[in-house]
Amino acid sequence: MPAMPTPSRAAAPRTLAILGATGSIGGSTLDVVARHPDRFRVGVLAAHRNSEKLAALCARFRPELAILADASMEQDLRRRLRSQGVDCQVQSGMPAIAEAAGGDACDTVVAAIVGAAGLDSTLAAARAGKRLLLANKESVVMAGALLMQALREGGGELIPVDSEHNAIFQCLPGGRPALDKAGVRRLLLTASGGPFRGRSRASLRDITPDQACAHPNWDMGRKISVDSATLMNKGLEVIEAHYLFGAPADAIDVVVHAQSLVHSLVEYADGSMLAQLGHPDMRTALAHALAWPERIDAGVPALDLASVGQLDFEAPDTDTFRCLALAYQVLREGGDAGTVLNAANEMAVAAFLAGTLPFLGIADVIEQVLEELPPQAVVDIPTLVERDLMARDTARRCIRLRC
Ligand code: MG
Repeated sequence: MPAMPTPSRAAAPRTLAILGATGSIGGSTLDVVARHPDRFRVGVLAAHRNSEKLAALCARFRPELAILADASMEQDLRRRLRSQGVDCQVQSGMPAIAEAAGGDACDTVVAAIVGAAGLDSTLAAARAGKRLLLANKESVVMAGALLMQALREGGGELIPVDSEHNAIFQCLPGGRPALDKAGVRRLLLTASGGPFRGRSRASLRDITPDQACAHPNWDMGRKISVDSATLMNKGLEVIEAHYLFGAPADAIDVVVHAQSLVHSLVEYADGSMLAQLGHPDMRTALAHALAWPERIDAGVPALDLASVGQLDFEAPDTDTFRCLALAYQVLREGGDAGTVLNAANEMAVAAFLAGTLPFLGIADVIEQVLEELPPQAVVDIPTLVERDLMARDTARRCIRLRC
């Protein structure tokens, strides 16, 4: 039997930067961290603008540095920390978050900022050779090839925490092998199907943001909940899997599994399929990624298979949920099409949540933006950021013209 990795209990605790600390992933991370004070310390907590919640987290976890992306809330955070007697540095602005992700106050970065806004900090962590716990899938969709290059050059390690990719990581042999050499035939991502699984297109015409955000299994932020309802979340994850694991579009499939208990699978040349199962609770993936290659308690009980009884699977309906088909189209086209897709989707979802775009209009807007901005070769990050802005402008115009 091959030797198992030796647990290094005497090693210094990991020091974390949690970017997106007041969100759903941030909360799950801190829950795991609080169970293992001997293993993890919190060095940096960063959030968008919720100063009240961030101050409470600082009082509990005592980071060296707290950062708000929205500079207008910095004074409010300082005041709250002072009144609670919490002594920590305070900064604000997205550049401060990126600097902290690559700086000395952490060796491990939980990248859980939503959207393209997370790109700079994700890249900074990769370049600085940190252990990168990646939940910010948009940065992979936007700049996957350059992010993977930064990671190789930085010499750090990326452990995916998106539940599907974490499952695939767990089902692959260790050490990021070339998939063909490892005998991998296919990566199979499971999809819950979202709150509108089984519905017809016509019945989705008048969907409200609150209906779209009521996910049956996972408790998540509003942007990813809408992505999950359109199946764009799965589309983004197909693209994410392509970059993280080096799999071509034809070797990545999606199967709908409404129970969200099988988090994804890897199919091998000999006909074996390895799956990772568990409750739909992000603490499992986070605990795995935090402690890897060791295993620690995540506060999540194992599944009771007898009471689960059966597992159900079905093919996705890409005619009703066109966003998934658009993501495959983008992956086959290559170049910077992922950047355009992601930007158009972020704008369309924001417009839907603001009540200025109907649910079915999300896919229409993305399709039109992709048509107007055909893919170009990926050059560097500044060029991608420019394309991102151009795609946002185009999406804005499409949304306005529809209203
Ligand atoms: Mg996921």
